[in-house]
Amino acid sequence: NLKNRSINSYGFYNTTLENKNSQKVFTENLIRQALKNDQLIVHYQPLVQVSTLKVASIEALARIQLSSGNILMPTQFIETAEETPLIHDIGARVIEIACRDLKDLNRRGIKTQVSINVSAVQLQMENFAGIVLERIHFHRLRPQDIELELTENVLIQDLKTTVANIVELAGAGVNIAVDDFGTGYSSLCYLDRLPLNTLKLDKSFIQKITPENPAEPIIPAMIRVAEGLQLRFVAEGIETRQQHEYLLIHGGTIGQGYYYSRPVAKEQIIDYMLAHHDTAGTFQQTKSQQA
Ligand code: C2E
Ligand code: MG
Ligand code: MG
Ligand code: MG
Repeated sequence: NLKNRSINSYGFYNTTLENKNSQKVFTENLIRQALKNDQLIVHYQPLVQVSTLKVASIEALARIQLSSGNILMPTQFIETAEETPLIHDIGARVIEIACRDLKDLNRRGIKTQVSINVSAVQLQMENFAGIVLERIHFHRLRPQDIELELTENVLIQDLKTTVANIVELAGAGVNIAVDDFGTGYSSLCYLDRLPLNTLKLDKSFIQKITPENPAEPIIPAMIRVAEGLQLRFVAEGIETRQQHEYLLIHGGTIGQGYYYSRPVAKEQIIDYMLAHHDTAGTFQQTKSQQA
């Protein structure tokens, strides 16, 4: 049509800029619609104890259920949301759904913990910790039932408000995980300074393990780092039996990935957990709880 033709005549640079902006506006509107129409949904993926194949805990992953039946993945909307206040609405909704679903799992005899991804923007909010704790109590859950996953770039920046939120949450008993470990500007300093519980090694490491490349020395080294710091160790992105066995052989305790299960809806994660006879969670005590 006419509009497209005039955009194309801007030349390559302007065209992409123009498209990027309209893409953003389009995504923002999708998010607003999704929040209004209850189309923001949460899928769950198990974190599996490699030696027993039992479920250690589950991770909540946001999706947008489009009216067309298609599902919009977080990689397609979180970044845009983070540039607007919409990330706070998404974050609050995911916490609400995850708490409600965990309570439902408990009622059905499944005791586990749920990990929730939190964006850097949310942690920069002055009263973030207070709001999260209020919602946990509202749902009659224990702070220990919840883990918040932060990426390491959040931790490295050492921002006052962010650190205060983390310290308050951890002090109340909420578990804190470092997500995608090894992909950011990695620094080992904060691992010891902050009240962390879990180290999640980014999937890029485990995915280097292939029939042609059967060893990846960083993985056992990181398992030892986690052990030394008394952190729960999780390897992300386990897709093959070989990768699972590599983890098992090197003392990696927990794996997450398509090999065990893709992220699935609540009813399916319940089926998965019942099939694996897993009715008790296995979160490690935090350093602060042990002290
Ligand atoms: P993440 O927190 O690192 O979550 C793991 C991602 O890896 C998920 O992608 C999951 O589906 C995918 N994954 C799991 N196992 C495998 C595997 O074996 N192979 C491969 N290739 N991928 C695997 P997903 O659901 O698309 O989420 C992408 C990212 O979006 C998440 O990465 C997280 O950073 C972000 N995200 C998801 N939900 C939320 C949310 O509620 N709030 C915020 N702020 N971010 C979220
Ligand atoms: Mg995560
Ligand atoms: Mg990750
Ligand atoms: Mg990620």
